[in-house]
This record gives sequence, C-alpha cells and structure tokens, in this order.
Amino acid sequence: MLKKTDLIDTLIHQGQRKRLVSELTKKGIADEKVLQAIGNVPRQWFFPTDFDQFIYRDAAFPIDHGQTISQPYTVAYQTELLGLKPNDKVLEIGTGSGYQAAILLAMGAKVYSVEYILPLLKKANKIFKAMGVEIQLFHGDGSLGLPLHAPFDSIVVTACAPAVPETYTKQLKIGGKLVIPVGDAEKVQTMMRITRVSETQTQTEVLQPCKFVPLKGSLGWK
Ligand code: SAM
Repeated sequence: MLKKTDLIDTLIHQGQRKRLVSELTKKGIADEKVLQAIGNVPRQWFFPTDFDQFIYRDAAFPIDHGQTISQPYTVAYQTELLGLKPNDKVLEIGTGSGYQAAILLAMGAKVYSVEYILPLLKKANKIFKAMGVEIQLFHGDGSLGLPLHAPFDSIVVTACAPAVPETYTKQLKIGGKLVIPVGDAEKVQTMMRITRVSETQTQTEVLQPCKFVPLKGSLGWK
C-alpha cells in the first residue's frame, strides 16, 4: 500500500516546480491560481519512476498502457480555459496518471474523473488515497460523460475526440464550459471551448492546435 510518507517532495522538486511555473508564465499562462496549483502539486507523485530528469520538463511523457501524462503547459492551459470558481463541480474525462485531477482539486474544485483503463484508475486512486484527498473516480466509457452525476460547472476532456459529443454539452449547467481537443487522432488537433449559453444553445471557440491520445469508446475513436 502506498503511504503518505512514500510521497516525497524535496527542495530540488520544489525548485524545479518554481522554474516550471516561470516557464509556463512565459508561454502565456496568466491565471495566478492555475500557476499556484502547478507550483503546489508535486508532479513526481504521478510520474513513472526512474525518469527523474523528465518530471519537470514541459512535455508529455509515456505512462503505462500506451497512455501519457499530459504536458504541464496543456494541463495549465486547459485548466485556465475552464475559468474555475471555488467548489465548482468538474468532470475530467481521462484520469490517466491523476495529475490533471490533482491540479483541478488544488484549484478548489469538486472533481469527478472517468478512466477507461482500470489499472491506470487504480494506480491514481492509490496516490489520491495516500495524499488523503477526495476525488470521485469512475471506471468506464467517458465519451458518454457521467450522466448520473450531471450537471457539471465544467467538463475537461484529456483525450482527442473525433467530434464534440453532444452528451457533454447536455451534462453542463447553463453557463458551464466544456474544454475538449477535437480532430484526427493521428494528426494535429484543435482545442475547443464550448459554453452552454441556454437550454438549447452553445457557443463554440476554436483555440490552439494541440496533440492528445485518442478518446476511445462509443462516441470516441473506435
Ligand atoms: N489527464 C491525464 C493526466 O493528467 O495524466 C492525461 C490523460 S491521457 C492524455 C488520456 C487518458 O484518457 C488516458 O488515460 C486514456 O486511457 C483515457 N481515455 C481515453 N478514452 C477514454 C474514454 N472513452 N473514457 C475514459 N477515459 C478515456
């Protein structure tokens, strides 16, 4: 069992995080709360062991089962786009390593996260347990959202969808935001932000190019 004492955060890690925060600031992340969350959450707890020199590089990195822990810039950028308020109820699709969920929690959100690959979910769960934090984890096809727990203030999708699944916008509160990479899983994709402006209407912003692993499942890539 992973224990709290196994979660190490040295002065070197803390210094590396400070440098990462200043790198993200230079790359355009401006939300102080997001920068604080990146500065406070130890990425090494979610990172594969034996690759210490890569933990605080601003790059995605392979984790088990052909998946990745997202690039810190991407985590910060997607989080910034959500415009979170304390206690917002947020759904993350693609728990992966658990790092993005921990950043959302550090922003003061109530976090729900869905993962397709059970061993990844179990590993993230062990880390959250050792941290002593509450994140609601679910195993299953996140392309369908999490209808039993909707509506959400925000939904963030950390895998690339072929198109925006309507299931997500329907599970947002009015005024809620969906941040999702969309496009061809093999090519450069586009980050999109969709705001639910009324019961029937949404507003779409087409943002930066990005690169994610594919969203699987019934409304994802087959
Ligand atoms: N948020 C993660 C982090 O901080 O490490 C990054 C996740 S990785 C880029 C994308 C994740 O989405 C993978 O773990 C993958 O298994 C998961 N995924 C893909 N399709 C999914 C689906 N339909 N439902 C739930 N999770 C899915």
